[in-house]
Amino acid sequence: MGYQEEEAGEDYIFKVVLIGDSAVGKSNLLTRYARNEFNQNSKATIGVEFQTQSMRINGKEVKAQVWDTAGQERFRAVTSAYYRGALGALVVYDITRKQTFENISKWLDELRTYGGSSVVTMLVGNKCDLTNIREVSVEEGKELAESENLFFMETSALASTNVKTAFQNVVREIFDAKS
Ligand code: GDP
Ligand code: MG
Repeated sequence: MGYQEEEAGEDYIFKVVLIGDSAVGKSNLLTRYARNEFNQNSKATIGVEFQTQSMRINGKEVKAQVWDTAGQERFRAVTSAYYRGALGALVVYDITRKQTFENISKWLDELRTYGGSSVVTMLVGNKCDLTNIREVSVEEGKELAESENLFFMETSALASTNVKTAFQNVVREIFDAKS
């Protein structure tokens, strides 16, 4: 049972964290998922720590409480509190910047240190609308995911590709693991 999980009757709240290098699109994935919005220019820093989005699974209301780093990742200051109680994680890189893919192992180390080993984790290659300037192939993403035992998906917060599916798959896996 996760620390952040609350069960009130048939309701569930699952904490899901977004991690990955600066500017890979974490905040835009969240605003696309929670509000169906995209910010082309802004750093998309949203003044709150998390946003909640509901879905129904097997007739039950399941809430994803998705945490965004609010820019802390730039200063390597994502703290243990951020990970505490997380049941799911989206570990995001930018398919047009190889370095953000190479840093995934660092993020996974941190997640496993602070979040524990049972966090449902999806590797997310974002900005798949920019496939003409990609530096990371789909195969490379799949291979890393397989070797690290992660779910994998390429997304575009800009084009709304796979964003809902990525979050919903993580939530569903958490739910299934509990029932
Ligand atoms: P964060 O630092 O990881 O939270 O990244 P942001 O969400 O602030 O996005 C960084 C930049 O990438 C912004 O200029 C966004 O407009 C842009 N961006 C985010 N997602 C996408 C995407 O799917 N496609 C494209 N083309 N740009 C994106
Ligand atoms: Mg951000």
